[in-house]
Amino acid sequence: MKYRMNQRTGDRVSEIGLGSAYLYKAETKEAVRALRTAYEGGINYFDLAAGHGMAFSLWGEALGDVRKNVLYQIHFGADYSGGEYGWSLDLDTVKRSVDWMLEQLKTDYINYGFIHCQDEDSDWETYRKNGVYEYLLSLKEAGTVRHIGLSSHTPSVIERILDEVPVDMLMFSVNPAYDYGHGEYANGGVDERTAVYRRCERDGIGISVMKPFSGGQLLDASQSPFRQALTRYQCIRYALDKPGVLTVLPGAQSTVEVKRLLAYYDQPEEALDYSIIGQFAPIEADGKCVYCNHCRPCPAGLDIGLINKYYDLALAGDRMAGEHYRKLARNASDCISCGHCDRRCPFHVHQRERMREISAFFRD
Ligand code: SF4
Ligand code: SF4
Repeated sequence: MKYRMNQRTGDRVSEIGLGSAYLYKAETKEAVRALRTAYEGGINYFDLAAGHGMAFSLWGEALGDVRKNVLYQIHFGADYSGGEYGWSLDLDTVKRSVDWMLEQLKTDYINYGFIHCQDEDSDWETYRKNGVYEYLLSLKEAGTVRHIGLSSHTPSVIERILDEVPVDMLMFSVNPAYDYGHGEYANGGVDERTAVYRRCERDGIGISVMKPFSGGQLLDASQSPFRQALTRYQCIRYALDKPGVLTVLPGAQSTVEVKRLLAYYDQPEEALDYSIIGQFAPIEADGKCVYCNHCRPCPAGLDIGLINKYYDLALAGDRMAGEHYRKLARNASDCISCGHCDRRCPFHVHQRERMREISAFFRD
């Protein structure tokens, strides 16, 4: 397992985390075994916007004794009083639900308390009006909640909330289908979504990724907007390449499925290459580097994806990006204009020109 640091909280977060939408469907012993397998495989970050209330006692049983080693994101607005997942902006319901979740999880604290599921401006207005945000803050002041999170599918609402209140972790739906305008939660255009990634990286807000497989559609050629299936590993790499992303949170229903996720690190680089999606990039995404490194190898030894990422982040106002860039072994000025990357890039990036532009920007 590899880990990434949340710059605002100092938490070391596993690149692969685990969602909780479906695990409750497994038989109890198997579900507990699957969670323990995840933990022993190095997964330390768990989302608890569960599909059913039954999930919470499974986590309590599987991880109660190692609670201090794991990080939970818990949602203020998820309601399980009816068994199945429900969404509520009513303060008393939220309070009851949070107390109940803590009891089931066998814990008395929350690593990341989430402002839950804010997809419309009116959700946030109601959240504030009903005192749910203030309740979350009061638990933070009391030490029950360590850090504040926000979950949303909508870039404009994310930007608004980040403008108004401090947030340490964002849960956002990230996959190539949504980024390219396909699917139920494909909210915002390419540039709006990209701006969210860059803002999070710049401000040190970690992103935890929900729906990395677009609800499974991307894994099935007959449902995928790209008319061919991607693998789980390609989708995970895609999300991990986005600026700001710390962890990807796929679901699992068994030990076998958890082990399959953990096998991400056993895959050869070619198996993680998702550049096939370049064929389906919409016009607004064409010519924009997605940092996939499909254009490797560069004969001059440049890490083309990383150089482009730091440049884009610097343009977005990330002051650390310039420092990171200067620490690279090879910079844009080392480009020998061979044209290999231009020929290889499925996203039609004119990289030779871009390297000149980057070199001028950073004054190599
Ligand atoms: S230039 Fe193209 S192939 Fe290379 S990292 Fe960027 S998007 Fe990927
Ligand atoms: S054009 Fe420059 S960056 Fe691209 S492969 Fe050649 S040397 Fe590397």
